[in-house]
Amino acid sequence: MYRRALELIPGGVNSPVRAMRAVGLDEPLFVRRGEGAYIEDLDGNRYVDWVMSWGPLLFGHADHETIAAVVEAAERGTTFGAPTEAEVELAAEIVDAVPSVEKVRLVSSGTEAAMSAVRLARAHTARDRILKFAGCYHGHVDALLASAGSGVATLGLPSSPGIPTRVTEHTIVSPYNDVDAAAAAVARYGEGLAAIIVEPVAGNMGVVPPERGFLTALRRLCDGSGALLIFDEVITGFRVARGGAQERFGISPDLTVLGKIAGGGLPLAAFGGRSEIMDRLAPGGDVYQAGTLSGNPLATAAGLAVLRRLRDPHVYDELEARGARLEAALAPHGHVQRVGAMATLFMTDGPVRNFADAQACDTDRYGALFRHLLAHGVYVAPSQFECMFVSLAHGDEEIERTAQALADFDG
Ligand SMILES: *Cc1c(COP(=O)(O)O)cnc(C)c1O
Repeated sequence: MYRRALELIPGGVNSPVRAMRAVGLDEPLFVRRGEGAYIEDLDGNRYVDWVMSWGPLLFGHADHETIAAVVEAAERGTTFGAPTEAEVELAAEIVDAVPSVEKVRLVSSGTEAAMSAVRLARAHTARDRILKFAGCYHGHVDALLASAGSGVATLGLPSSPGIPTRVTEHTIVSPYNDVDAAAAAVARYGEGLAAIIVEPVAGNMGVVPPERGFLTALRRLCDGSGALLIFDEVITGFRVARGGAQERFGISPDLTVLGKIAGGGLPLAAFGGRSEIMDRLAPGGDVYQAGTLSGNPLATAAGLAVLRRLRDPHVYDELEARGARLEAALAPHGHVQRVGAMATLFMTDGPVRNFADAQACDTDRYGALFRHLLAHGVYVAPSQFECMFVSLAHGDEEIERTAQALADFDG
Protein backbone atom coordinates (compact mmCIF):
# COMPACT_ATOMS: atom_id res chain seq x y z
CA MET A 1 0.00 0.00 0.00
CA TYR A 2 2.89 2.37 0.77
CA ARG A 3 4.42 1.67 -2.66
CA ARG A 4 1.09 2.52 -4.25
CA ALA A 5 0.78 5.65 -2.10
CA LEU A 6 4.27 6.75 -3.15
CA GLU A 7 3.19 6.67 -6.78
CA LEU A 8 0.13 8.79 -6.14
CA ILE A 9 0.85 11.04 -3.16
CA PRO A 10 4.06 13.04 -2.61
CA GLY A 11 6.14 11.06 -0.13
CA GLY A 12 3.19 8.69 0.21
CA VAL A 13 1.62 10.78 2.98
CA ASN A 14 -0.73 13.73 3.39
CA SER A 15 1.25 15.30 6.25
CA PRO A 16 5.04 14.92 6.48
CA VAL A 17 5.54 13.58 10.03
CA ARG A 18 3.41 10.51 9.19
CA ALA A 19 6.22 9.16 7.00
CA MET A 20 8.13 8.22 10.19
CA ARG A 21 11.49 9.09 8.66
CA ALA A 22 12.51 10.98 11.81
CA VAL A 23 12.53 7.69 13.72
CA GLY A 24 14.39 5.74 11.07
CA LEU A 25 11.53 3.76 9.57
CA ASP A 26 11.30 3.03 5.86
CA GLU A 27 7.54 2.95 5.77
CA PRO A 28 4.71 4.40 7.84
CA LEU A 29 1.99 2.62 9.72
CA PHE A 30 -1.23 2.35 7.70
CA VAL A 31 -4.15 2.40 10.11
CA ARG A 32 -7.22 0.26 9.47
CA ARG A 33 -9.29 1.11 12.50
CA GLY A 34 -9.23 2.52 15.99
CA GLU A 35 -11.12 1.71 19.16
CA GLY A 36 -10.67 3.46 22.48
CA ALA A 37 -6.95 3.72 23.23
CA TYR A 38 -5.98 1.30 20.43
CA ILE A 39 -5.31 1.41 16.72
CA GLU A 40 -4.96 -1.52 14.36
CA ASP A 41 -2.73 -1.49 11.28
CA LEU A 42 -3.38 -3.02 7.84
CA ASP A 43 -1.65 -6.25 8.93
CA GLY A 44 -3.96 -6.57 11.92
CA ASN A 45 -1.40 -5.56 14.60
CA ARG A 46 -2.85 -3.67 17.56
CA TYR A 47 -1.08 -0.83 19.31
CA VAL A 48 -1.73 1.29 22.39
CA ASP A 49 -2.02 4.69 20.72
CA TRP A 50 -0.46 7.71 22.46
CA VAL A 51 -0.66 9.89 19.34
CA MET A 52 -4.45 10.03 19.19
CA SER A 53 -4.43 11.73 15.78
CA TRP A 54 -2.08 14.34 17.31
CA GLY A 55 -4.48 15.47 19.99
CA PRO A 56 -8.13 15.69 18.94
CA LEU A 57 -9.46 12.49 20.53
CA LEU A 58 -10.12 13.21 24.21
CA PHE A 59 -12.51 10.23 24.50
CA GLY A 60 -10.48 7.84 22.34
CA HIS A 61 -11.08 6.35 18.91
CA ALA A 62 -14.57 5.57 17.60
CA ASP A 63 -16.18 7.14 20.67
CA HIS A 64 -19.82 6.00 20.65
CA GLU A 65 -21.40 9.35 21.54
CA THR A 66 -19.41 11.10 18.83
CA ILE A 67 -20.31 8.49 16.21
CA ALA A 68 -24.00 8.66 17.07
CA ALA A 69 -24.00 12.47 16.80
CA VAL A 70 -22.16 12.43 13.46
CA VAL A 71 -24.44 9.74 11.97
CA GLU A 72 -27.54 11.60 13.08
CA ALA A 73 -26.21 14.83 11.55
CA ALA A 74 -25.18 13.10 8.31
CA GLU A 75 -28.68 11.75 7.80
CA ARG A 76 -29.96 15.32 7.72
CA GLY A 77 -27.38 16.44 5.16
CA THR A 78 -23.63 16.90 5.25
CA THR A 79 -23.25 20.54 4.27
CA PHE A 80 -25.47 23.50 3.48
CA GLY A 81 -23.24 26.56 3.31
CA ALA A 82 -25.90 28.28 5.40
CA PRO A 83 -26.26 28.87 9.16
CA THR A 84 -27.31 25.94 11.35
CA GLU A 85 -28.41 25.59 14.95
CA ALA A 86 -25.49 23.30 15.83
CA GLU A 87 -22.85 25.89 14.93
CA VAL A 88 -24.50 28.43 17.23
CA GLU A 89 -24.56 25.84 19.99
CA LEU A 90 -20.91 24.95 19.45
CA ALA A 91 -20.00 28.66 19.53
CA ALA A 92 -21.91 28.97 22.82
CA GLU A 93 -20.02 26.00 24.24
CA ILE A 94 -16.66 27.52 23.24
CA VAL A 95 -17.55 30.99 24.59
CA ASP A 96 -18.70 29.43 27.87
CA ALA A 97 -15.50 27.40 28.21
CA VAL A 98 -12.73 29.73 27.10
CA PRO A 99 -12.44 32.72 29.47
CA SER A 100 -11.24 35.42 27.03
CA VAL A 101 -13.49 34.45 24.11
CA GLU A 102 -16.67 36.52 23.67
CA LYS A 103 -17.19 35.74 20.00
CA VAL A 104 -15.81 32.95 17.89
CA ARG A 105 -15.66 32.05 14.22
CA LEU A 106 -15.49 28.43 13.08
CA VAL A 107 -13.11 27.30 10.34
CA SER A 108 -11.80 23.92 9.15
CA SER A 109 -8.17 23.66 10.27
CA GLY A 110 -5.81 25.07 12.86
CA THR A 111 -3.70 26.53 10.08
CA GLU A 112 -6.69 28.45 8.79
CA ALA A 113 -7.59 29.66 12.28
CA ALA A 114 -4.05 30.92 13.02
CA MET A 115 -3.81 32.59 9.61
CA SER A 116 -7.12 34.38 10.18
CA ALA A 117 -6.24 35.45 13.74
CA VAL A 118 -3.01 37.02 12.48
CA ARG A 119 -4.87 38.85 9.70
CA LEU A 120 -7.38 40.16 12.22
CA ALA A 121 -4.64 41.28 14.63
CA ARG A 122 -2.87 43.13 11.82
CA ALA A 123 -6.10 44.85 10.78
CA HIS A 124 -7.06 45.74 14.34
CA THR A 125 -3.69 47.32 15.13
CA ALA A 126 -2.97 48.61 11.61
CA ARG A 127 0.51 47.12 12.03
CA ASP A 128 2.36 44.32 10.23
CA ARG A 129 4.91 42.75 12.56
CA ILE A 130 4.36 39.49 14.40
CA LEU A 131 6.53 38.14 17.21
CA LYS A 132 6.62 34.36 17.47
CA PHE A 133 8.76 31.90 19.40
CA ALA A 134 11.24 29.40 18.01
CA GLY A 135 9.86 25.88 18.21
CA CYS A 136 6.22 27.00 18.36
CA TYR A 137 4.11 25.81 15.43
CA HIS A 138 1.00 27.62 14.27
CA GLY A 139 0.13 25.60 11.20
CA HIS A 140 1.77 26.04 7.81
CA VAL A 141 0.83 29.71 7.44
CA ASP A 142 3.46 31.43 5.24
CA ALA A 143 4.20 34.27 7.66
CA LEU A 144 4.51 31.88 10.60
CA LEU A 145 6.81 29.37 8.91
CA ALA A 146 9.85 31.34 9.93
CA SER A 147 12.87 30.16 11.80
CA ALA A 148 15.29 32.30 13.69
CA GLY A 149 18.71 33.11 12.34
CA SER A 150 21.53 33.34 14.85
CA GLY A 151 21.19 35.77 17.71
CA VAL A 152 18.68 36.35 20.43
CA ALA A 153 15.63 37.68 18.62
CA THR A 154 15.93 37.93 14.89
CA LEU A 155 13.88 38.71 11.84
CA GLY A 156 12.48 35.49 10.51
CA LEU A 157 13.86 33.69 7.51
CA PRO A 158 11.49 31.49 5.51
CA SER A 159 11.78 27.93 6.79
CA SER A 160 10.45 26.52 3.50
CA PRO A 161 11.10 27.30 -0.15
CA GLY A 162 8.07 28.91 -1.74
CA ILE A 163 7.71 31.57 0.93
CA PRO A 164 8.92 34.99 -0.21
CA THR A 165 11.37 36.67 2.18
CA ARG A 166 9.02 39.66 1.96
CA VAL A 167 6.38 37.57 3.75
CA THR A 168 8.52 36.53 6.73
CA GLU A 169 10.44 39.79 7.07
CA HIS A 170 7.61 41.02 9.29
CA THR A 171 7.99 37.98 11.53
CA ILE A 172 10.32 38.25 14.50
CA VAL A 173 11.46 35.04 16.14
CA SER A 174 12.48 34.91 19.79
CA PRO A 175 13.45 32.03 22.11
CA TYR A 176 10.66 30.47 24.21
CA ASN A 177 10.68 31.19 27.95
CA ASP A 178 13.13 34.08 27.55
CA VAL A 179 11.47 37.21 28.93
CA ASP A 180 14.52 39.41 28.36
CA ALA A 181 14.78 38.44 24.69
CA ALA A 182 11.05 39.07 24.16
CA ALA A 183 11.33 42.43 25.93
CA ALA A 184 14.32 43.36 23.78
CA ALA A 185 12.44 42.39 20.62
CA VAL A 186 9.44 44.48 21.67
CA ALA A 187 11.70 47.43 22.57
CA ARG A 188 13.22 47.24 19.09
CA TYR A 189 10.17 46.39 16.96
CA GLY A 190 7.29 47.28 19.29
CA GLU A 191 5.97 50.24 17.33
CA GLY A 192 5.12 48.12 14.33
CA LEU A 193 4.10 45.07 16.33
CA ALA A 194 0.60 43.73 15.61
CA ALA A 195 0.76 40.65 17.80
CA ILE A 196 2.74 38.24 19.90
CA ILE A 197 1.61 34.71 19.07
CA VAL A 198 2.54 31.87 21.41
CA GLU A 199 1.65 28.32 22.33
CA PRO A 200 0.94 28.96 26.04
CA VAL A 201 2.25 25.44 26.68
CA ALA A 202 4.50 24.54 23.77
CA GLY A 203 3.60 21.18 22.26
CA ASN A 204 5.36 21.26 18.91
CA MET A 205 8.91 20.97 20.23
CA GLY A 206 7.73 18.35 22.70
CA VAL A 207 6.00 19.60 25.85
CA VAL A 208 7.69 22.75 27.12
CA PRO A 209 5.71 24.44 29.89
CA PRO A 210 5.83 28.22 30.24
CA GLU A 211 8.14 29.16 33.09
CA ARG A 212 6.67 31.19 35.92
CA GLY A 213 6.26 34.78 34.74
CA PHE A 214 6.72 34.13 31.00
CA LEU A 215 3.07 34.44 29.93
CA THR A 216 2.50 37.33 32.36
CA ALA A 217 5.48 39.13 30.83
CA LEU A 218 4.04 38.64 27.33
CA ARG A 219 0.71 40.08 28.49
CA ARG A 220 2.56 43.09 29.94
CA LEU A 221 4.66 43.56 26.78
CA CYS A 222 1.50 43.58 24.67
CA ASP A 223 -0.23 46.05 26.96
CA GLY A 224 2.81 48.33 26.84
CA SER A 225 3.23 48.24 23.07
CA GLY A 226 -0.37 48.05 21.86
CA ALA A 227 0.18 44.64 20.26
CA LEU A 228 -2.42 41.89 20.66
CA LEU A 229 -1.60 38.71 22.55
CA ILE A 230 -2.63 35.60 20.58
CA PHE A 231 -2.70 32.27 22.39
CA ASP A 232 -2.50 29.36 19.99
CA GLU A 233 -4.47 26.84 22.05
CA VAL A 234 -4.98 24.35 19.21
CA ILE A 235 -3.41 21.67 21.43
CA THR A 236 -3.99 23.09 24.92
CA GLY A 237 -7.61 24.14 24.41
CA PHE A 238 -9.98 21.75 26.25
CA ARG A 239 -6.91 19.66 27.16
CA VAL A 240 -4.91 21.29 29.98
CA ALA A 241 -8.21 22.63 31.39
CA ARG A 242 -11.69 23.10 29.92
CA GLY A 243 -10.78 26.72 29.27
CA GLY A 244 -7.30 25.79 28.05
CA ALA A 245 -3.98 27.21 29.21
CA GLN A 246 -5.55 30.64 29.74
CA GLU A 247 -7.74 29.13 32.45
CA ARG A 248 -4.96 26.99 33.90
CA PHE A 249 -2.48 29.88 34.17
CA GLY A 250 -4.97 32.73 34.62
CA ILE A 251 -3.73 34.89 31.72
CA SER A 252 -6.14 36.53 29.31
CA PRO A 253 -5.07 36.76 25.65
CA ASP A 254 -6.78 39.08 23.15
CA LEU A 255 -7.29 36.35 20.56
CA THR A 256 -7.37 32.57 20.92
CA VAL A 257 -6.79 29.93 18.25
CA LEU A 258 -8.50 26.57 18.77
CA GLY A 259 -8.63 23.29 16.84
CA LYS A 260 -8.03 19.58 17.45
CA ILE A 261 -10.34 18.69 20.42
CA ALA A 262 -12.78 21.47 19.40
CA GLY A 263 -13.84 19.38 16.41
CA GLY A 264 -14.09 16.08 18.27
CA GLY A 265 -11.93 14.35 15.64
CA LEU A 266 -13.51 15.96 12.57
CA PRO A 267 -12.00 18.85 10.62
CA LEU A 268 -12.94 21.92 12.65
CA ALA A 269 -11.01 24.76 14.22
CA ALA A 270 -11.87 28.22 15.50
CA PHE A 271 -10.53 31.58 16.48
CA GLY A 272 -12.12 33.97 18.93
CA GLY A 273 -11.66 36.87 21.28
CA ARG A 274 -13.23 40.08 22.50
CA SER A 275 -16.32 41.17 20.53
CA GLU A 276 -14.79 44.52 19.72
CA ILE A 277 -11.95 42.78 17.83
CA MET A 278 -13.97 39.91 16.33
CA ASP A 279 -16.59 42.32 14.97
CA ARG A 280 -13.98 43.63 12.52
CA LEU A 281 -14.61 40.43 10.52
CA ALA A 282 -16.79 40.53 7.39
CA PRO A 283 -19.71 40.84 6.90
CA GLY A 284 -20.07 43.24 9.87
CA GLY A 285 -16.55 44.55 9.43
CA ASP A 286 -13.97 44.96 6.71
CA VAL A 287 -11.58 42.05 7.39
CA TYR A 288 -12.32 39.31 4.88
CA GLN A 289 -12.47 35.68 6.01
CA ALA A 290 -14.70 32.90 4.70
CA GLY A 291 -15.09 29.13 4.20
CA THR A 292 -17.35 26.83 2.15
CA LEU A 293 -17.25 24.11 4.82
CA SER A 294 -16.87 26.39 7.87
CA GLY A 295 -19.16 25.24 10.67
CA ASN A 296 -19.75 21.98 8.80
CA PRO A 297 -22.69 20.02 10.28
CA LEU A 298 -20.75 16.78 10.83
CA ALA A 299 -17.86 18.60 12.48
CA THR A 300 -20.09 20.74 14.70
CA ALA A 301 -22.02 17.63 15.76
CA ALA A 302 -18.78 15.88 16.73
CA GLY A 303 -17.47 18.99 18.50
CA LEU A 304 -20.67 19.34 20.50
CA ALA A 305 -20.71 15.64 21.41
CA VAL A 306 -17.28 16.11 22.99
CA LEU A 307 -17.37 19.65 24.42
CA ARG A 308 -20.69 19.11 26.21
CA ARG A 309 -19.12 16.35 28.30
CA LEU A 310 -16.28 18.64 29.43
CA ARG A 311 -18.48 20.63 31.80
CA ASP A 312 -17.97 17.83 34.32
CA PRO A 313 -14.81 18.79 36.29
CA HIS A 314 -14.26 15.07 36.95
CA VAL A 315 -12.97 14.85 33.33
CA TYR A 316 -9.96 17.04 34.16
CA ASP A 317 -9.27 15.35 37.50
CA GLU A 318 -9.14 12.04 35.63
CA LEU A 319 -6.92 13.38 32.83
CA GLU A 320 -4.55 14.81 35.45
CA ALA A 321 -4.43 11.52 37.38
CA ARG A 322 -3.84 9.44 34.26
CA GLY A 323 -1.23 11.91 33.03
CA ALA A 324 0.59 11.60 36.34
CA ARG A 325 0.52 7.78 36.12
CA LEU A 326 1.91 7.89 32.59
CA GLU A 327 4.62 10.30 33.73
CA ALA A 328 5.64 7.92 36.51
CA ALA A 329 5.89 5.07 33.99
CA LEU A 330 8.05 7.13 31.62
CA ALA A 331 10.29 8.78 34.21
CA PRO A 332 12.92 6.00 34.55
CA HIS A 333 13.67 6.20 30.81
CA GLY A 334 14.49 9.86 30.22
CA HIS A 335 13.40 13.36 31.17
CA VAL A 336 9.61 13.78 31.26
CA GLN A 337 7.83 17.11 30.88
CA ARG A 338 4.08 17.13 31.33
CA VAL A 339 1.20 19.55 31.69
CA GLY A 340 -2.05 17.74 32.43
CA ALA A 341 -2.87 15.34 29.59
CA MET A 342 0.14 16.16 27.39
CA ALA A 343 3.61 14.76 28.03
CA THR A 344 6.97 14.23 26.32
CA LEU A 345 9.75 11.81 27.18
CA PHE A 346 12.88 13.75 26.22
CA MET A 347 16.12 11.89 25.57
CA THR A 348 18.18 14.25 27.72
CA ASP A 349 18.86 14.93 31.38
CA GLY A 350 16.76 18.08 31.02
CA PRO A 351 15.30 20.51 31.65
CA VAL A 352 14.02 21.48 28.18
CA ARG A 353 13.14 25.20 28.34
CA ASN A 354 13.20 26.09 24.65
CA PHE A 355 13.76 24.82 21.11
CA ALA A 356 17.56 24.80 21.39
CA ASP A 357 17.30 22.51 24.44
CA ALA A 358 14.85 20.25 22.57
CA GLN A 359 17.13 20.06 19.55
CA ALA A 360 20.00 18.98 21.78
CA CYS A 361 18.13 15.77 22.69
CA ASP A 362 19.42 12.42 21.46
CA THR A 363 17.03 11.91 18.54
CA ASP A 364 18.74 8.65 17.49
CA ARG A 365 17.96 7.23 20.90
CA TYR A 366 14.39 8.48 20.57
CA GLY A 367 14.16 6.69 17.20
CA ALA A 368 15.40 3.48 18.82
CA LEU A 369 12.84 3.90 21.58
CA PHE A 370 10.06 4.47 19.05
CA ARG A 371 10.97 1.32 17.09
CA HIS A 372 11.25 -0.73 20.28
CA LEU A 373 7.84 0.42 21.51
CA LEU A 374 6.21 -0.18 18.13
CA ALA A 375 7.59 -3.72 18.08
CA HIS A 376 6.04 -4.18 21.54
CA GLY A 377 2.60 -2.88 20.57
CA VAL A 378 2.90 0.73 21.71
CA TYR A 379 2.64 3.63 19.25
CA VAL A 380 4.13 6.95 20.36
CA ALA A 381 4.78 10.03 18.23
CA PRO A 382 7.27 9.29 15.44
CA SER A 383 9.32 12.35 16.43
CA GLN A 384 11.05 13.59 19.59
CA PHE A 385 9.41 16.98 19.11
CA GLU A 386 5.82 15.94 19.75
CA CYS A 387 3.55 15.02 22.65
CA MET A 388 1.99 11.90 24.06
CA PHE A 389 -1.72 12.62 24.30
CA VAL A 390 -3.57 11.11 27.23
CA SER A 391 -7.28 10.49 26.70
CA LEU A 392 -10.07 9.18 28.89
CA ALA A 393 -9.76 5.91 26.97
CA HIS A 394 -6.26 5.36 28.40
CA GLY A 395 -6.64 3.41 31.64
CA ASP A 396 -4.30 1.58 33.98
CA GLU A 397 -4.02 -1.33 31.56
CA GLU A 398 -2.68 0.82 28.72
CA ILE A 399 -0.27 2.64 31.03
CA GLU A 400 0.94 -0.70 32.43
CA ARG A 401 1.47 -2.11 28.92
CA THR A 402 3.49 0.97 28.06
CA ALA A 403 5.57 0.64 31.23
CA GLN A 404 6.29 -3.01 30.44
CA ALA A 405 7.27 -2.25 26.86
CA LEU A 406 9.64 0.40 28.18
CA ALA A 407 11.12 -1.88 30.83
CA ASP A 408 13.24 -3.95 28.47
CA PHE A 409 14.38 -1.05 26.28
CA ASP A 410 18.14 -0.84 26.44
CA GLY A 411 18.53 1.75 23.66
C1 LIG B 1 -1.90 21.25 15.05
C2 LIG B 1 -1.55 22.66 15.34
C3 LIG B 1 -1.88 23.71 14.46
C4 LIG B 1 -2.38 23.44 13.06
O1 LIG B 1 -3.60 22.83 13.03
P1 LIG B 1 -4.00 22.01 11.68
O2 LIG B 1 -5.42 21.63 11.93
O3 LIG B 1 -3.05 20.86 11.60
O4 LIG B 1 -3.84 22.96 10.55
C5 LIG B 1 -1.70 25.01 14.87
N1 LIG B 1 -1.20 25.29 16.08
C6 LIG B 1 -0.85 24.33 16.95
C7 LIG B 1 -0.34 24.70 18.29
C8 LIG B 1 -0.99 22.99 16.59
O5 LIG B 1 -0.57 22.02 17.43
